[in-house]
Amino acid sequence: MTVRTRFAPSPTGYLHIGGVRTALFNWLFARQRGGQFILRIDDTDVARNVDEALQPILDGLRWLGIDWDEGPGVGGPHAPYFQSQRADRHKAAAARLLATGHAYRDFARPEEVDEERKAAQAAGRPFLYSRRFAAFTDADAARFEAEGRPSFVRLKMPREGSLVIDDAVRGRVEFAWEREQDHVIQRADGSCLYHLASVVDDHDLAITHVIRAEEHLSNTPRQAFIATSLGYPLPAYAHLPLVAEPGSRTKLSKRKLAQYLKNNDFKQVMDHGLRIAERMGVSADADTFNPVIVDFYREVGYLPWAIDNYLALLGWSYDDKTEFFSREELTRHFTLERINASPASFDPKKLWAVQDHYMAMLTADERLAMMLPFLARAGLVADPATPGERETVRKVIEASGDRLKVAGDILAYADFFLVDEPAIDPAAVKQRLAKPGVRALLEAFSGALAAVEPFEPPMIEAALKQVVEAAGLKVGDLVHAVRVAVTGKTVGPGLYDCLAILGRERSLDRIRRALPACEPIG
Ligand code: GLU
Repeated sequence: MTVRTRFAPSPTGYLHIGGVRTALFNWLFARQRGGQFILRIDDTDVARNVDEALQPILDGLRWLGIDWDEGPGVGGPHAPYFQSQRADRHKAAAARLLATGHAYRDFARPEEVDEERKAAQAAGRPFLYSRRFAAFTDADAARFEAEGRPSFVRLKMPREGSLVIDDAVRGRVEFAWEREQDHVIQRADGSCLYHLASVVDDHDLAITHVIRAEEHLSNTPRQAFIATSLGYPLPAYAHLPLVAEPGSRTKLSKRKLAQYLKNNDFKQVMDHGLRIAERMGVSADADTFNPVIVDFYREVGYLPWAIDNYLALLGWSYDDKTEFFSREELTRHFTLERINASPASFDPKKLWAVQDHYMAMLTADERLAMMLPFLARAGLVADPATPGERETVRKVIEASGDRLKVAGDILAYADFFLVDEPAIDPAAVKQRLAKPGVRALLEAFSGALAAVEPFEPPMIEAALKQVVEAAGLKVGDLVHAVRVAVTGKTVGPGLYDCLAILGRERSLDRIRRALPACEPIG
């Protein structure tokens, strides 16, 4: 049997981290088994513009390297892959369920069903619809129609016994039928509801394994009932563990994750999110700044494989200790058996460590290729960058070593090389320049710099030390002041590298321009 899995997102306008984990597991399992991974779009209940709401999902999956064998943009033998375009199949299935007595036309008004539900609640017993407006014969239907009642199609669910499924993650799961409702599958206007559509589509697309979020476990009985009633074999099910908050077992939420990042030294990442939004001219509102969606990580500049590798470990493990996997290793080792059922806590610190690991493996050229688009988007280099700009950025990358953790870091590390007049951080000026003695020191250093030959980091360092020693001070007294003078801020590559990259003329010019700011305040 060829394994066929699917990821079936609704076009919501964003790709949630939990959705990526689901897509990834489906993709990995299909790849591991030499099968096919299908992307189906569950757009039946979507009122908004589907194309627009789908694009971020397709872009996100492509960015992460989660490629689909059949689906939007790729086509395939089972097209169409949009649920809304398969409505005729869903209607035909509803008609068959009616014909075989697995479903019935129900003429109850919603409030009549509600009354029954409330009565059951008041009496403290589980609600089961009485079926008193069910039309089991044509005569029934004619009578209800004459009363002007609208009709729905409901499943005639079993009320005794139970369904047992063998979930690949949870093992044996038993559902008592008496707890199931006669779910509606078709509306008065003839349109079909999601669960029917999903089962029919899974069958038509020859899906063998339904691997999905835990929240769908409770949908399984009605879906299994629909499938068996239509004579379909049941797919294998694997319900994945919940993606939980950092250090918790509750579901990951945008607000709590943002809070966690703020409280745990991820200010840098948060700042990128805001700065990037600002430079792109979009408002840094809640949507741009949403750390539970993939776009956030992409815009901050994480490596896609770091995300994949990290998310693969969200509920799955190979041997409980291996943390890093190449794409090839992961597709070789992945099995459903090693998925754990308990909630998997999303840990930004672990993700950060995985990111660090893969960043360290990149060559300077690879980092350059990764980071130039960030600078281009911010208008700091041309697109494509000129040879001179490439050269400068490359030097900055080399001089920054492992300080560039995500691609977005390059904005803070390279901006002052790429503009003529860098923005000056007033707090840095106050702290480092506006102090007695700093001006004289900077002037002395300028004199020394003018004579440094060749203008390279070791010679620049020696010159600075000489100036400091002559004044009877410490290196730090001058280094911080020079950094603020030439870069406008307190972070960046090593100072001697900064000066060498800027070159003699620009360095001297910037120090000269900073001198007026050296007057002590007050
Ligand atoms: N469209 C459903 C979702 O987005 C898919 C459910 C399933 O995988 O069966 O959650």
